[in-house]
Amino acid sequence: MTTIGANLQQVRARITQACAASGREASGVTLLAVSKTFDVDAVIEAMKAGQMAFGENYVQEGVEKIQALRALRPGHAVSWHCIGPLQSNKTRLVAAHFDWVQSVDRLKIAQRLSEQRPDGLPDLQVCLQVNIDGGANKSGVAPHELPALADAVRQLPRLQLRGLMCIPEPSDDPAEQMAVFLRARELFDQLRARGMPLDTLSMGMSDDLEAAVAAGSTLVRVGRGVFGHRPRKPAA
Ligand SMILES: *Cc1c(COP(=O)(O)O)cnc(C)c1O
Repeated sequence: MTTIGANLQQVRARITQACAASGREASGVTLLAVSKTFDVDAVIEAMKAGQMAFGENYVQEGVEKIQALRALRPGHAVSWHCIGPLQSNKTRLVAAHFDWVQSVDRLKIAQRLSEQRPDGLPDLQVCLQVNIDGGANKSGVAPHELPALADAVRQLPRLQLRGLMCIPEPSDDPAEQMAVFLRARELFDQLRARGMPLDTLSMGMSDDLEAAVAAGSTLVRVGRGVFGHRPRKPAA
C-alpha cells in the first residue's frame, strides 16, 4: 500500500474511534483531504485509496489541479472544496470550478459567487466561515453577525447554504479545543433551530479532529495527516 493509502486508513480509523467514543455513527463525519501544496499524483493516490472529497486553499493552484484531474480521470465523481480566504477577484474562478466553498464570510463574496456560478452546473454548496475565537486578523464572520449573513446568503440563487466552517487557533489542550468547537456547535444549532436546513459543521484538522468530532463536527479537513508534511507554502 502507498503511504497516502496507509495514512488515509489511519485517519479514517481515528474518525471511527472518535465517533465511537461519543456514540456517533462514523458515517456522520466526512473526511475532506486537504491537498494544498501537493501535486496531482498525490491526489490520484488518494483517489485510488477511495478518497472522494478534496480541499484547496489557493484558488489558482486548486483550479489547475481540478482541471488536470478532470482531464486525467474523466467521469470520476470527486468533489472539490475551496477552503481558503477568498478575494473578490477570485470568485469567478471559484464559481466556475469548485463544488463547494467553505470560506464565505461576507455577503459581497456570496453575491458574486451566486451571479458567477455558470448555467448548467449544480448549485454551489456553501459554508459560512465563522471567526469563532475572535482572532483580530482572522477571516470569518463575527458570531453576532452570523444570523443576518446566513439569512441573506440563503436567499441567493445558485447557492445552497449547507452550514458553518471554523478554524480555531491551534491549541494542544483538548479541553480548550473542545470548548471552542462547542461554541461553533452552538451557533450551528441556533441557526438550525431558526429553521435553516443546515447539515454541515466543518471543523477539526490533523491535530484536533478528535475534539471536533466529540463536539459534533460533520466534516473534518485533514492535510498533513493524509499527505504528510507540506513542503512549501505557495503564493496565495
Ligand atoms: C491547511 C488547512 C487544513 C489542513 O490542515 P492540517 O493541519 O494539515 O490537517 C484544514 N483547513 C484549512 C482551512 C486549512 O487551511
